[in-house]
Amino acid sequence: MIIVKKPAELAAMRIAAKKTATILHKVASKVAPGVTTKELDEYAAELAKKAEGRCAFYGYHGFSGHICSSVNEEVVHGVPGRRVINEGDVVSIDFGLVFGGFVGDTAVTVAAGRIDPEVQRLLDTTQECLQAAIGMAVEGNRLSDISNACQVVAEDAGFSVVRDFVGHGIGREMHEDPQIPNYGPPGRGPVLKAGMTFAIEPMINLGVHKTETLGDGWTVVTKDRLPSAHFEHTIAVGREKAEILTIPDLDS
Ligand code: MG
Repeated sequence: MIIVKKPAELAAMRIAAKKTATILHKVASKVAPGVTTKELDEYAAELAKKAEGRCAFYGYHGFSGHICSSVNEEVVHGVPGRRVINEGDVVSIDFGLVFGGFVGDTAVTVAAGRIDPEVQRLLDTTQECLQAAIGMAVEGNRLSDISNACQVVAEDAGFSVVRDFVGHGIGREMHEDPQIPNYGPPGRGPVLKAGMTFAIEPMINLGVHKTETLGDGWTVVTKDRLPSAHFEHTIAVGREKAEILTIPDLDS
């Protein structure tokens, strides 16, 4: 069942999501050659504590990080550790925060120094995928209109859409109904209503769409080990247009 949030619940979600986005923005700005993913993780934990929120991923099914940090061919769920970020790497950082009983969930892929132009195009396209998908999160559309918009942008650019992981409803729980694939034909699934809240998160690969999970049981990599990008916003379906909830407060 897809939960339609009441105005008071949406107001609480706005606050949680803004805090989430502000922390992600700060952590992402620390990505640079020479930094370890563990250092990014510790910074996120410190900022979450200061914000009086709880890191949603920490302890989730035993996950040991406060963020997911996925470098280059790592798609999602990378575990922060001793890995040193190098010049030319791209680092996907995914962060979830619980505040006031609601969850915000957001991700970005950032470049460390100068990166290959084709990888930059992958990052740009993945952001376009996210914006196109969010553009369909309007009352009266069908759920798979979101999915299709993402796939069209990715494949027109010559990239592939990860099938094994999808976006999701979000609210009091990090994962609520429905699942939101980033691919598929339009015009299918539930009709969207204003007040539904989703985490939309395209994962787009430079090469093949297939993934596999490494021996740590967490880190998802591309099957061909070519780079992947991941951008995510928590949004609310609106009557005229969607509202992006995970907008950082750049003054804080
Ligand atoms: Mg998510």
